Amino acid sequence: MRRKIVAGNWKMNLSFTDAEDLINDLLDTLDEEKPTAEVIICPPYPYLELATDYMEENLFKVGAQNISSFGAGAYTGEVSASMLKSMDVTHCIIGHSERRKYFNEDDKMLTAKVNQALAHQLTPIFCVGESLPEREAGKDKEVVRRQVRHGLFHLDTVEFARVVIAYEPVWAIGTGMTATPEQAKDMHAYIRTLIAERYDEKVAEETMILYGGSCNSENAADLFSQEGIDGGLIGGASLKVDEFISICKQASAK
Ligand code: PEP
Repeated sequence: MRRKIVAGNWKMNLSFTDAEDLINDLLDTLDEEKPTAEVIICPPYPYLELATDYMEENLFKVGAQNISSFGAGAYTGEVSASMLKSMDVTHCIIGHSERRKYFNEDDKMLTAKVNQALAHQLTPIFCVGESLPEREAGKDKEVVRRQVRHGLFHLDTVEFARVVIAYEPVWAIGTGMTATPEQAKDMHAYIRTLIAERYDEKVAEETMILYGGSCNSENAADLFSQEGIDGGLIGGASLKVDEFISICKQASAK
């Protein structure tokens, strides 16, 4: 049985004090509203401990926005999966389009990151999605198929069951151009078809697939009510308590 998830990707935003305020506001509001959706917040690395300190309240889980593809050692500036695990981080975004684009993260590196996450009991939130030119050229499914296959299909069934996928069309991220509920539903169904072919129908049915890309309090209900959309990966709107909580509530309503 799939449960809705709402994950907030704070990206490279907020001062330490602003992050502290946002976490406190979130805690208060989540405590009041008690949404049934699973809530995950993904602050920048230096603020993770602020968030994990509050995890025993069971109101949210904490994810990182990235991890190293290496295990440990002389990799200046990197943060390993084992370090995150030792801080009680539970999830990790892997393969976000901003990392693919600005940091040249390719399929091989992302496979290594997924392996690191799983080896250290972190849940990967693995992002896939096509650019606008790719969609306009009718290559959206081909691109997503390649990303899912290369990033995840080396996993065995037990490992794969621990992964969350986020379909994030690149053209919808931070642009205000949300995918229509039909476009999102169609791609989620396609991803499930790929999973069924590689694994089986049951695995496909049980895989959590989130939508991401300009999701906000206005469009969340429409998106989350679509068959096969299990919640959202939320960027900009996760920095505003009211917006984020409204999205969490809409995910909980379905
Ligand atoms: C994201 O960065 O994962 C994202 C979905 O961003 P936004 O909601 O701002 O489009």
